[in-house]
Amino acid sequence: MKWKVIEKSKLPNLIGELAREYEIFAPVDRKSIGSFERLASGSEVSLDSRNTKKPPKDVFIPQTETLFTYKTGKQEVELAAPQVVIGQRVVLAVRPCDAKSFVLLDKFLSSGEYKDAYYKEKRKNTTIVGLACNHPLSTCFCTSLGGSPHGKEGLDVLLQDINDKYLIEPITERGEKLIEKFPWLKEAERADIDKAKKLSDDAEAAVKSKVSIDGVDNKLDGMFDDPIWEQICQKCLNCGICTFFCPTCCCFDVLDEDGKRIRIWDSCQFSCFTLHGSGHNPRPSGKERMRQRIMHKFNYFVKTHGESFCVGCGRCIQECPVNLDIREVVGAISALPTDKRSDND
Ligand code: SF4
Ligand code: SF4
Ligand code: SF4
Repeated sequence: MKWKVIEKSKLPNLIGELAREYEIFAPVDRKSIGSFERLASGSEVSLDSRNTKKPPKDVFIPQTETLFTYKTGKQEVELAAPQVVIGQRVVLAVRPCDAKSFVLLDKFLSSGEYKDAYYKEKRKNTTIVGLACNHPLSTCFCTSLGGSPHGKEGLDVLLQDINDKYLIEPITERGEKLIEKFPWLKEAERADIDKAKKLSDDAEAAVKSKVSIDGVDNKLDGMFDDPIWEQICQKCLNCGICTFFCPTCCCFDVLDEDGKRIRIWDSCQFSCFTLHGSGHNPRPSGKERMRQRIMHKFNYFVKTHGESFCVGCGRCIQECPVNLDIREVVGAISALPTDKRSDND
């Protein structure tokens, strides 16, 4: 299918047409927190140069989600069937790093022996429309994790801001079908495609922050008891912001409340995350909790799923109240001698 263009002023019309058939989620600035919300109208969308503070993961893993409801009688418990069937959805203006996070979440939550039915159902019915980054931030390091400001992994359609218009590139069959619904879209001209290519090259070059992750997974093999964790965790407050705003972190707690079994986001940075009923806590201090976060992202996930569990979005760097920078942590591990493993075995 050929690439299309849409004038920016016509985007609300397109969203209005889409809304007749789909639930639409897009970046919205509400209460000064950029997040992906279900749209009430096309004019609500906020497509500025920044990525949202809150990642789009909660379209698939809501911060609070009811798994099922129940009623308790004198002798029995009556369960209501879980509501997992979701209508067709479109998520608009997902940045390439966040689109890649869906690919990683798919590996974790909807492949292998145990699958998350709630996540899977939403993913199955969702078309992802991306928005390329023309102006990466100083905290972005997607290119170190195999991504790119104009990357296409995890997307069905990619929009590129070419000043007064968006260039629309279909990527998957699902994306082509979506675009076919708008026969009034104009075909892109050579000049539009050339402009997008130039912006893409400039954006790639603008990602100045580089982190060497080569060999970090193997090095971490021998670092479970390394003193580095004690040093890194010194200033950490264990507030959990880095994991709540991380597009790939998907840990949750399960609670019963008012006849509902719900799950809520949780974080390995909280002391109660691994607290046993006996009172024993296998991760009793910040040192173990920091180690868990870094190990999960750069060692365990690499071993189980073949790549790092980080997309380089930089949110944990922007939002950490004590400026603990994951690039410096990975850089420090990367700079350790290569025989680190034997030191600790
Ligand atoms: S955001 Fe910073 S202070 Fe808070 S848990 Fe993460 S690293 Fe620690
Ligand atoms: S660890 Fe930090 S940089 Fe990596 S994906 Fe999560 S929030 Fe983004
Ligand atoms: S880093 Fe921590 S919160 Fe994030 S997915 Fe891993 S264990 Fe869960």
